Amino acid sequence: MLFEGLAHKLQETLRKLKGKGKLSEADVKQAMREVKLALLEADVNFKVVKDFINSVTERAVGQEVMMSLTPGQQVIKVVNEALTELMGKTKTDINISSKDLTVLMLVGLQGSGKTTTAGKLANYLKKQGHSPLLVAGDIYRPAAIKQLQIIGEKAEIPVFAMGDKNKPVNIIKRSLEFARSKGLNIVIIDTAGRLHINDELMEELKEIKLEVEPDEILLVVDAMTGQDAVNIAQTFNYQLSLDGVILTKLDGDTRGGAALSIKAVTNCPIKFIGVGEKLEDIEPFHPDRMASRILG
Ligand code: GDP
Repeated sequence: MLFEGLAHKLQETLRKLKGKGKLSEADVKQAMREVKLALLEADVNFKVVKDFINSVTERAVGQEVMMSLTPGQQVIKVVNEALTELMGKTKTDINISSKDLTVLMLVGLQGSGKTTTAGKLANYLKKQGHSPLLVAGDIYRPAAIKQLQIIGEKAEIPVFAMGDKNKPVNIIKRSLEFARSKGLNIVIIDTAGRLHINDELMEELKEIKLEVEPDEILLVVDAMTGQDAVNIAQTFNYQLSLDGVILTKLDGDTRGGAALSIKAVTNCPIKFIGVGEKLEDIEPFHPDRMASRILG
């Protein structure tokens, strides 16, 4: 379960405060030391933890909190607000044009869940009344095209593929013409990943970005890789200016470090989360709900 350890520790620490009635500054500082350790154990980025604790401590030892009738509860409220802000404050939607074709380009490393997520996202948007097209732009991973076609069949969503002999940028350009000719309104491009970030990958993605001008570039990243996920997001963002992140495999992530750090480190909002292998296992990311889940 996501945030298992963190939720347990934070709830324990904050329960102690709640039981105290009147609080001293020392009580709050002691609690914040415990919160800090819990966040570090959850694999949250060190700098993010430091800023978070400073901001919460400042707010929590303020006059209003300490003088209130229920200071313990007020501290919990401050922590809740700070956690929500850390993850981006409010839900960030994908911008879908009402007039023209919306082009969403999914990028990410091999194995991150890109192809699966392309299908999930298409299925999600279809259920909202849109007409998506899936585009098989990952021509390097042998099974990726077939995988996308199978997903498309299952979800009854058209898939545009031209095999693995054409350049991805040409496949994608053709797919846009195809989508327009069929009256489809969203194109979701599955691009090629690599095992690691390298120049070849970035050059290819930059070329697509330049020539196709997607409306949004979304990074698909595996939450289970913890701080690696944050580093990957930082590099992709630097190279491509991401519009958002889709954090996959949250169902297998117990610590939650990436979910808590990505927005603060990269300033890119997490737009969706993947919570399983099935087509329906995708959810919009709600920072406030996530914070409440952690604090119980
Ligand atoms: P790609 O190489 O990035 O296109 O990755 P794939 O889409 O092939 O996914 C790699 C593996 O991760 C597959 O076995 C997927 O079923 C699995 N996967 C993708 N998203 C999730 C998720 O949110 N949760 C879980 N548990 N598995 C996922």
